[in-house]
Amino acid sequence: MEIKLIQGDITQIKAEGIVNAANTSLLGGGGVDGAIHKAGGKLILEECITIRNRQGGCNVGEAVITTAGNLPAKYVIHTVGPVWNGNKTEKEQLLASCYSNCLRVAEEYQLKTIVFPNISTGIYRFPKDRAAKIAIDTIKQFQTQSIQEITFVCFDEENYKLYQQLL
Ligand code: ADP
Repeated sequence: MEIKLIQGDITQIKAEGIVNAANTSLLGGGGVDGAIHKAGGKLILEECITIRNRQGGCNVGEAVITTAGNLPAKYVIHTVGPVWNGNKTEKEQLLASCYSNCLRVAEEYQLKTIVFPNISTGIYRFPKDRAAKIAIDTIKQFQTQSIQEITFVCFDEENYKLYQQLL
């Protein structure tokens, strides 16, 4: 499995799966979530609503998959990162679960390439250095059959530099 790093906008990336840092409602929001729904069109939201009607949204640390609509990717894997407050150890475990559950879903769908944004490091205020370390450690530990390439896409310079150092 190859690990790649780029700086840019996840909505522009052609991969089998891109990950969305969603919220528990699955109804869209700001940041990367807003960008994905805006660029991907209404099909993504429709599938999110179907999932929400079936299972009541998505819990923190878990992941669900939908079409990628008009995006160049095939699928969007929506995960809900933890908000950085309260019990820090618990939040770190939940962030790790986001990465491992996305990979589990990707594996289930036999995806070969998957792209992650820096989950929880925007509106949810998770410290970027801790988040980057958790992201990298978790994907390195994951045992995979189908996934050949995992890309971290950093939107901001600070995250990009942190990942560059850690990788
Ligand atoms: P969260 O609520 O999980 O913190 P945000 O969307 O606010 O989610 O931020 C998560 C990360 O996504 C941040 O590092 C932010 O800079 C980044 N981000 C925002 N827009 C995009 C985009 N279009 N492509 C990739 N990453 C993005």
